[in-house]
Amino acid sequence: MSATDFDYLFKLLLIGDSGVGKSCLLLRFAEGSFSDSFMSTIGVDFKIKSLQFEDGKVVKLQIWDTAGQERFRTITSSYYRGAHGIIIVFDVTDEESFKNVTSWISEIENYASDSVCKLLVGNKTDLVEQRVVSRQQAEELAQRLGIPYIETSAKTADHVEEAFVMMTKEIRNRTGNAAL
Ligand code: GDP
Ligand code: MG
Repeated sequence: MSATDFDYLFKLLLIGDSGVGKSCLLLRFAEGSFSDSFMSTIGVDFKIKSLQFEDGKVVKLQIWDTAGQERFRTITSSYYRGAHGIIIVFDVTDEESFKNVTSWISEIENYASDSVCKLLVGNKTDLVEQRVVSRQQAEELAQRLGIPYIETSAKTADHVEEAFVMMTKEIRNRTGNAAL
């Protein structure tokens, strides 16, 4: 028996405009549930979830929610400290949240470490009729930013686990086996 129940500990952050579904994605991934009501994230700091890699190594994810700070379009620098991975979320039914992705990226560049892994997530794909941002538009942006892109629905659980797994694998690839 080892002293810990994991091989890696990664700190992940969720950022993006208010209302894009960050808290719902976290709840879906960490607890497998979804709520239709707008959730007050005040007081919620982070959730823990463990994943196992194909080689049996266990990674413990500490995933931080913004606690509503993003309502003011900015997040305190302490939120970014020590982050290994940042998931930038926009809502595919909300053009404004897509346009703001570049502002969130600049904020990351100002506050997070240069080696931080980034992933762009287009959420709410279940709302097909209301969709205004196409997959192609989002893929083009992601390519320009040099980061991977994935589409999710926190409501139906579509690709939610995949998004977090993708982020986690990339962090491990980048940090090698030295983490813990
Ligand atoms: P946050 O401000 O980014 O944390 O956003 P929330 O997680 O609080 O979600 C905002 C609203 O969008 C809530 O009413 C959620 O029920 C809704 N929502 C979140 N994700 C999805 C999704 O994938 N599909 C749909 N249809 N609604 C979603
Ligand atoms: Mg929230």
